[in-house]
Amino acid sequence: MSGALRRPYEFDELAAMTRPLIATLSLDELPRFVEALEFEQKDSTTVDCRLEPRKVDANTVEMTGSVRTTVQVCCQRCLETLALDLQALVQWSFTSDDTGDGAGNDTGNDTGTNGTGAGIDLLSWVEDELLLSLPQYPTHVQATCGGDSMKKYMSESVTDDKESVTPFADLKKLLSEKKPS
Ligand SMILES: [Zn+2]
Repeated sequence: MSGALRRPYEFDELAAMTRPLIATLSLDELPRFVEALEFEQKDSTTVDCRLEPRKVDANTVEMTGSVRTTVQVCCQRCLETLALDLQALVQWSFTSDDTGDGAGNDTGNDTGTNGTGAGIDLLSWVEDELLLSLPQYPTHVQATCGGDSMKKYMSESVTDDKESVTPFADLKKLLSEKKPS
C-alpha cells in the first residue's frame, strides 16, 4: 500500500484503524526535504514509513512508528559524498480538532493543527520528521572520512598502494633482508 499517505486523513479514520500504515515514499513527494538536502539524490531513494495509530480516547489518537531513509549529503569535514542513514522515531498526537471539524478552535497544545480543515496530512508530518532528523553538520564517521583535503592528497602521494599502511614496518623488513646473513 504505497499510496497510504497520499491523501489527508480524517480523525475518525485514524481512530478506527486497527493496522499500521505502511508506506514507501519517493523523494518526489517530499520537496521540502529534498530542498533541505542540497545535494543530488539517487533516483532509487525511498522513504520507508511505518505508522501505528492508537486511539487514546474519543478525541485523541496517538501515532507511533518510524520513518527511515538513506540520503546523499555533503560531508562537512571532507566535502565528499556521504550516504546518511536517517531514522526518525515518530510520536504524534492528534485531536479531533486537527481535522477542522467542530468549531476549529486551536487547543494551544503542541500536537499541531494544520488549520486548513482538510484533514490530517500525514505526508507533511513525515516530511517534518525527516527535516528535524537531519544533522546540521553531517560528517563521515572518523574512520571512513577523508579528513581535510590537504591531508588526503599528501597521503595519496606518499603511497600508491592502499594496502600499505605500515611504511616503517616495510622499511624494517627491507633492511633486514639486505643484511648479510
Ligand atoms: Zn568525510
